[in-house]
Amino acid sequence: MTKSNGEDPRSGSRMERFQQGVRKRTLLAKKKMQSITKDDVKGYLVRNAFVLLTVTAVIVGTAALDSKASGKMGIRAIVYYMSTTIIAVIIGIIVVVIIHPGKGTKENMHREGKIMKVTAADAFLDLIRNMFPPNLVEACFKQFKTNYDKRMFRVPIPPNETSVVASVINNVSETMETLTRMKEEVIPVPGAVNGVNALGLVVFSISFGLVIGNMKEQGQPLRHFFDSLNEAIMRLVALIMWYAPLGIMFLIAGKIVEMEDMGVIGGQLAMYTITVIIGLLIHAIIVLPLLYFLVVRKNPWVFIGGLLQALITALGTSSSSATLPITFKCLEDINGVDKRITRFVLPVGATINMDGTALYEALAAIFIAQVNNFELNFGQIITISITATAASIGAAGIPQAGLVTMVIVLTSVGLPTEDITLIIAVDWFLDRLRTTTNVLGDSIGAGIIEHLSRNELKNRDAEME
Ligand code: ASP
Repeated sequence: MTKSNGEDPRSGSRMERFQQGVRKRTLLAKKKMQSITKDDVKGYLVRNAFVLLTVTAVIVGTAALDSKASGKMGIRAIVYYMSTTIIAVIIGIIVVVIIHPGKGTKENMHREGKIMKVTAADAFLDLIRNMFPPNLVEACFKQFKTNYDKRMFRVPIPPNETSVVASVINNVSETMETLTRMKEEVIPVPGAVNGVNALGLVVFSISFGLVIGNMKEQGQPLRHFFDSLNEAIMRLVALIMWYAPLGIMFLIAGKIVEMEDMGVIGGQLAMYTITVIIGLLIHAIIVLPLLYFLVVRKNPWVFIGGLLQALITALGTSSSSATLPITFKCLEDINGVDKRITRFVLPVGATINMDGTALYEALAAIFIAQVNNFELNFGQIITISITATAASIGAAGIPQAGLVTMVIVLTSVGLPTEDITLIIAVDWFLDRLRTTTNVLGDSIGAGIIEHLSRNELKNRDAEME
């Protein structure tokens, strides 16, 4: 018997059975891969090494100077971090308002009266609370958080995995993603890296380093201890980083497959991507080099040339924390920046100074407002600038952390937080670009702060002789 449309029902069911079999097998493979990656030793190494790397580097950096010199260096660093972040936010706002990538959206996307999940005040208070964890061991495992909605931030798995090739690529890419990115437990908590209260650890390490620095002769054994521990961790992380290129290759392949499912607001998303790229380029190739030239009076492009390896690593890993060992190497070995500066400015910068993320958060929030036909007044734009700055300080130096802390920016002006999903499809790509900008910002900061601190460094050298 054949159906009225002439198709053989048996061949249809055979086809269905075949498809079901393929689906079952890919699901099973996926589960197996996930169980392997969950317990992956290298993953834990990356996670644990990060804590040690940051703590030892910041202690080494601050202990190398006395508290007066460290204080001055710290103030210079904070002024640099804040001013460049604010400039980045302003650039983001200007380009998104001028280009207006969210225009022409359907009326039915208009939404009103959303329930606020986290207030801007909550976010700020969490930031402060996380700076001073109740105890240090606890800071290594958890962080303070107000009622963030964790479910919202799961990156969706493509719904229709019909092709075996696609699912194989996805499986491998997920494995490598876990190896290189360690992002399965991304929780939107200011100052947190993979469940670690990075901000709290940084604040502690600065205080501890300051005390060691003031101990002069007596502090020497501790200084040597942390110096050598820091060196050992750097070598360990560098070893793990050898896996990165392979992971990145599969990651990108997997993401391209995922992108096929996008299509929803494709046109605007393309314009949005271009707008982010323009904003980041203005900041990275005009503002930062100009600032370096104005302060240091040297050719910024020679300095940036020395950073190439770090910038490429940032582009590849989407993580300023994972790039840290390479950034140290480029600045110290190629650009000759003093170790006492880099060991302080870079890890602190990787935790709190994120120009690219700040620019992106402000821009993305305004894009979401445009998509929703949500008219922002001047006061709301100021609120976005302030919360985008806070959110970038709170974002960890790990992949897509900026996307997660964006909830702070959106809720501050009452924009729908679930619309983060509108930009998720392109975030894997934009994340790479903003991470590169973040690393560039930290590195140029190290160059500028070294130049401004040259007298203190000379005095300390004379003192130690
Ligand atoms: N991935 C960025 C970084 O590591 C943070 C972000 O998501 O914006 O610097």
